Amino acid sequence: MKFRGKKQFKKAIIKHGMVERKLIKFLKNDGTRMIPKCDWPTCTWRCMLSTNSRTSSWQISSFNQEHTCPPRRDNRLVTAKRVAEKYEKFILANPSWILDRMRQTIQEEMFADISIPKLKRAKSIVLQKALDATKGQYKHLYNYQEELLRSNPGSTVVIKRDTDAAGHVFQRMYICLDACKRGFMAGCRKVVGLDGCFFKDATNGELLCAIGRDANNQMHPIAWAVRHHKNNESWDWFCDLLFRDISVEDGLDWGILKAVEKWAPNAEHRNCARHIYANWRKKYKKKKAWQKLFWYCAKAPCMTLFNLAKARLAKHTQEVAKGIMNTDPQH
Ligand SMILES: [Zn+2]
Repeated sequence: MKFRGKKQFKKAIIKHGMVERKLIKFLKNDGTRMIPKCDWPTCTWRCMLSTNSRTSSWQISSFNQEHTCPPRRDNRLVTAKRVAEKYEKFILANPSWILDRMRQTIQEEMFADISIPKLKRAKSIVLQKALDATKGQYKHLYNYQEELLRSNPGSTVVIKRDTDAAGHVFQRMYICLDACKRGFMAGCRKVVGLDGCFFKDATNGELLCAIGRDANNQMHPIAWAVRHHKNNESWDWFCDLLFRDISVEDGLDWGILKAVEKWAPNAEHRNCARHIYANWRKKYKKKKAWQKLFWYCAKAPCMTLFNLAKARLAKHTQEVAKGIMNTDPQH
């Protein structure tokens, strides 16, 4: 059997060792020959690859293919790099894969006992590779902006960089596609929902979005932005661009509230009850029993029933009932 070179042969031998669960070591590896042998002392599996002077190719000159050894749990051929290669997709889809479970899976599928540090290394190889793949993508941002504007004329795409930092670091990006803008103006209720959520892992930062409600009461995206750091200034910037886009000149987060007050002073602002509840709950822990009373207050159809519900809550605790008034409920 011929091989293109030692590299191809070595790869084949390692594959054989992993599939057959045997530990193969290389006795000789020089310019003219390569001799892999089974690591088990009494096992006779041995192979020799050498150069052939006639055809100047690498070929097997002797091969004893009988293993008399048991499968090896301590197979050193199962390295962190090889584990990373085999489970790359799975690790990327489940970055929080618990190490003990990972160990069990590898024991079952590759028949090898792997130490925890080795597993950690395998995971970090995969995650680092994914991180490295994102490097350089920011370079294409302006191309992306141009392409968006070319294929969606009338859209607003704004990129802001930190020009003080060396290398002009990315700060934030705002996108409002023309179709989304026109769709909102033409057929949506004049209600804008603002919210932000955080990215995890490689990129960090936050996604801000403005969502409308269409005639079927379904979500209609209007605009979104990506920002690197959380600060009030970027909500301000987002609302400025957004309200210009949807022409609101007369129309749970302090950042959001301040920006909305500034850019749409005459528009009616409302807080989402679920968010009020989430914030309220954070402050007044324990109290699952008060949840029902809170929703009685939130759903009260008139001032009298609201006061009644608040009084019932105040019976349990004055402080919590006052907490409800912090968000300025109105009928
Ligand atoms: Zn063997």
